[in-house]
Order: sequence, then C-alpha cells, then structure tokens
Amino acid sequence: MIGELEQRAGGRRESGAFLLAPVALSAPSVAAIVYYDDLDPDALDGGVSLQAGAFSRLWSHCARERLRVVGDVHTHPADIVCQSRIDRANPMVARVGHVAVIVPNLAAGVIQPADVGLHLYRGEDGWTSSFGRDARALLYVGRWA
Ligand SMILES: [Zn+2]
Repeated sequence: MIGELEQRAGGRRESGAFLLAPVALSAPSVAAIVYYDDLDPDALDGGVSLQAGAFSRLWSHCARERLRVVGDVHTHPADIVCQSRIDRANPMVARVGHVAVIVPNLAAGVIQPADVGLHLYRGEDGWTSSFGRDARALLYVGRWA
C-alpha cells in the first residue's frame, strides 16, 4: 500500500485510499484498499478531494464485495502526520470509529508503523490522535509493505 501511494503521488502530490474490511467481521481488519484516483481520476489534482460520483462508486463496490469502509489513508509531505485543519473538519466518512491514517514523506522511502499518524473520529467530540510508539501499538500490520 505504501509503495502504491508513493507511486500514485509521483513524489509531487498527496495521494490516498479507503481502507475496507469485511462486513462479517466486527473487529475491523483491513482486507482491501481502494485508491482515490481509481474512484475519481481527478482526485489528486490540487489537494486530495473526491466528487460525489466517487462515493457512489465506493458504496457500490462495498455492497458488491460485502465490505465496509473502516478508515482511510493519505500522505503528507515531510514528516508532519498531524491532521491539517481541513483534514479535521472534513472526515472522509463522518462515522464514529472511522480511522484516518496519515503517512509522511508522500509515502517515499522506508515508512514504519511508528512514523504514521492515527486519527480516530469520535463524532461531535472530534478526533483522538496517536503518534509514534502509541500509533505503533495500535496498528497491527500483518504485511507492511
Ligand atoms: Zn492531510
């Protein structure tokens, strides 16, 4: 996933994806990834943004494959994995428990679990963010590549 995010960003811009888990599992375990630019070819132009059509493609895909969106991932330049003001104000899916992962350095080079920012959406209570050792402890990566 990290390599794919880097490639799609071309080292110049941010990229991102939705993280999907089987509907049948109560504990979210990411089983599939849908990249923003596959849902909307213009998604990465001028900052990450998705048109309504991208969401309808996403929901159809989820229904067909019996998956649900449990989180999203996007890249930031440099080593800043805090959410931007825009990130905080615009959860990709505004559902309590949604997790937003932020990957540094436009996903280039070696990225370890402790390098990412993990942000848990709590609805009206905002977000809970974890970094470094805390992020690593919360993120189980079966195949980190
Ligand atoms: Zn961001």
